[in-house]
Formats: sequence, structure tokens, C-alpha cells
Amino acid sequence: MSQGELNCVTGMTRILVTNDDGLRTSGIAALAQALALLGEVYVVAPEDESSAIGHALTLRRPLRIRQVSERWFGVDGTPTDCINIGINRILEGVPDLVVSGINEGWNLGDDITYSGTVAGALEGVLLGAPGMAVSRPRVRGDYDYETVTTAAGHLARSILEDGLPPRTFLNVNVPRRQPQGFKVTVQARRQYTTAVAESCDPRGRPYYWIEKAQLDWEPDARSDYHAVRNGWISVTPLHPDWTAHEAAGAVGRLLDRRQAEALERVFQ
Ligand code: MN
Repeated sequence: MSQGELNCVTGMTRILVTNDDGLRTSGIAALAQALALLGEVYVVAPEDESSAIGHALTLRRPLRIRQVSERWFGVDGTPTDCINIGINRILEGVPDLVVSGINEGWNLGDDITYSGTVAGALEGVLLGAPGMAVSRPRVRGDYDYETVTTAAGHLARSILEDGLPPRTFLNVNVPRRQPQGFKVTVQARRQYTTAVAESCDPRGRPYYWIEKAQLDWEPDARSDYHAVRNGWISVTPLHPDWTAHEAAGAVGRLLDRRQAEALERVFQ
């Protein structure tokens, strides 16, 4: 399908793009370019890198918007700030799709709780727009975006045409090598073993540096980690509901027991 035909099909589709690596990175440029085939792309992204900032919202200082070009904007805040500003002040409405990325480095398993990239898509779904976070492996030297932009474009088109279940968004990670295809996955679990290094500044005061956690993943053939390691594009459906539904029974029994004990004490 030519670009003209695509534009006819999609009409005034609006796509809001953010990331956590910052406005000037090659990943967001490649993503915006790929999504431009599907609609009007608005880029609202952090001025500076804010990886591992999670779902942080800036509430104790003002935020500034800097217009870079017609539909490109920098915000001196987090990916979550960018989605809020994009929807409230730039698009003045909820877009058809929110896409966050393309992150330099995978966002897999338990690590996604730290991810600013995933938080961008999460904020989109909280504000009513379906979306996805897209990440690629970290490599030495230049990265060829073709595989990941093709995958992102394909999934974006699917979401625009068929939608996603309510309050659902996708966490997409592409493998290092030529992919075998898409695979629906679950979050891998990881045994965290972080280290905190101590050193001394020139004035003799100690300072600390959190070091990279060791990659120690629990084996699970259904997991996002397993998929990308075996050459699949991992697509994990996520939602903002943190409730441990399967634990409700156990917690209920625990409360019942404590409740009985507390009542006994009160009536003694
Ligand atoms: Mn990042």
C-alpha cells in the first residue's frame, strides 16, 4: 500500500510518541518516521535522558515546553509528564495511539517497574489511549532500526485497526538477530542482586553508586526474556492493575484471623 492510500484509510489518526532516552536520540526519530505512515505523529519527549525514572510525575516545579518543529516538542520532565502535557496542552485531546520508545536496551520482566519507556505507554492507557512501549537490544556501534520499526509499525497498525482490550497496553522487545516472528509472552522473574559501591569525593565525603543488577532470570519458556533470547519479538500485554488477584483469598483469611484476635481482646 502506498503512503497516499494509507493516509486515506487512516484519515486524521493522531499518534503521540514519547520515550525516556530523550528527544535527541535516534530511537525516537526512527519510531516517529515509521509511525508517520499511519497518521499524524506528535513527538513530546524529555529534553534529557530519564531512563529508570519509572512512572514519576513532576509536581514540585514548573515544566517548560520547547517547540522544536511543527509537531516535535521537548519537555524538561519525565515520560509521564510528556504524555500529560501532550494530551492536555498539545493535542488537546486523547490520541488514537501512544507509543513510547524505541528504547536503547531491552525492558524485560521485573525490570519494567523501573522503566520510563513502559511508564510512557502506561500513562497513555491511564488517560484513555491504547498503546505500546518498544525496546531494542543494546549494541556496540550503530543500530539498524529496520526490524524494530517494521515490527512497531505492524503492531501500531493492528492496534489502530482492531484495538486492544480496555486498559491494556503492549510491552514490545525485539531480539538481537533476525526475528522468527511475534510471540505473546509473560513477564520474566528475576533474582535481584544489586551492589552499591562506596567511594570518596575530593572533599573526603563518601558517595554511593548503585551498580547494575546481575542478570539472573528464572527459567520460563513463556517469558519475554526467553522469547527475545530465542529470536522472537516479545509482546507482553500489560495493564495498570497491580492487584494480586490470586492472593485475595490468602489475604482475606489472614485478615479474618487477625480480626477475630482483635475482637477477642476488645471484648475481654
Ligand atoms: Mn531508556
